Amino acid sequence: MSRFLAEKLTVLKPYVPGEQPQDMQYVKLNTNESPYPPAPALMEAVNNEEIKKLRLYSDPELKELIAAIAEFHGINEKKIFCSNGSDEVLSFAFLAWGDKGVAYADITYGFYPVFTQLYGLNEKMIPLKEDFSIDATEYEGLNRMCVIANPNAPTGKAISVESIRKIAETNPDNVVIVDEAYVDFGGESALSLIDECENILVVRTFSKSRQLAGARLGYAMGSEELIADLNRVKFSFNPYNVNRLTSLLGTLSMQDKQWFDSCRNKIINTRKYTTDELRSRGFDVLDSLANFIFAKPCDISGEEYYLKLKANGVLVRHFNKDRIKDYVRITIGTDKEMQTLIEKTDKILKECRK
Ligand SMILES: *Cc1c(COP(=O)(O)O)cnc(C)c1O
Repeated sequence: MSRFLAEKLTVLKPYVPGEQPQDMQYVKLNTNESPYPPAPALMEAVNNEEIKKLRLYSDPELKELIAAIAEFHGINEKKIFCSNGSDEVLSFAFLAWGDKGVAYADITYGFYPVFTQLYGLNEKMIPLKEDFSIDATEYEGLNRMCVIANPNAPTGKAISVESIRKIAETNPDNVVIVDEAYVDFGGESALSLIDECENILVVRTFSKSRQLAGARLGYAMGSEELIADLNRVKFSFNPYNVNRLTSLLGTLSMQDKQWFDSCRNKIINTRKYTTDELRSRGFDVLDSLANFIFAKPCDISGEEYYLKLKANGVLVRHFNKDRIKDYVRITIGTDKEMQTLIEKTDKILKECRK
């Protein structure tokens, strides 16, 4: 830290992303990426012609990309905003609407408290229930911005669209952000509410269900007014926030619904296999609607299980946080990767029961 740093940044605790080892020696099940490659059309698309075009700025209005998203969801283009990852959408949202305070769960996506601190906002943390479910009634009438990951991370549990509607209706003067990073793996989307509720913003990402985590692309859907607010922030910050290649790849991804469906269905099936296998070994595994599971091993602590898996070449995520330190979050990979996880688990359990 230099002595020149703004004082409020000296106390900021930056977000700590999951490990990204560059040598690929691991079965990588720690950051909820897709184990499958992007759709075939994307492989052909990045050719010399596209690289030559990189001398030009990208389209600040992202017309083609937004048209493809509008087509996919069957909504008006004016209700869509695109960003450099959904993290950027969230950051713009906190800046735009967080000044009356923000509310989110005590156990949820770790970036929310970072944005709160970065922008100096007032935070209200709402504990999850004992079983790690969200008590939606706790968000009613808070008179502050509500941010709900649905399904939630790292639990994989979801709340209903009706609960979201109630939260939006009882906080009429605040925005309700529904972070749907994982909705394509089984949750119920609040997208159907955006025409009715002018204060709901649905946030999506290409990182989890569209095999493009490294391309950095996210988007938001909501009333034209909310989208105009986000554009106001973006054009005050970085008008070219989505680069040309990413915009092209995102467009093509949206156009291949078959590939999208086949990948997410494979993950849903593999999730069931993994859940069943771990439960049959005595693990407590939460019912997940996401592309990961949250599991508490038996006869071994969460941290030890994480460390031993790592020593055996399998990377999962452990959060050293009071309520959840007994658990690990395991991304759903291919069937083969999950078989490896189960084999290594058996080996570890056998060793520690000796
Ligand atoms: C992964 C994730 C994001 C971030 O996604 P990017 O588009 O890669 O920035 C946002 N919210 C939740 C809940 C996530 O798990």
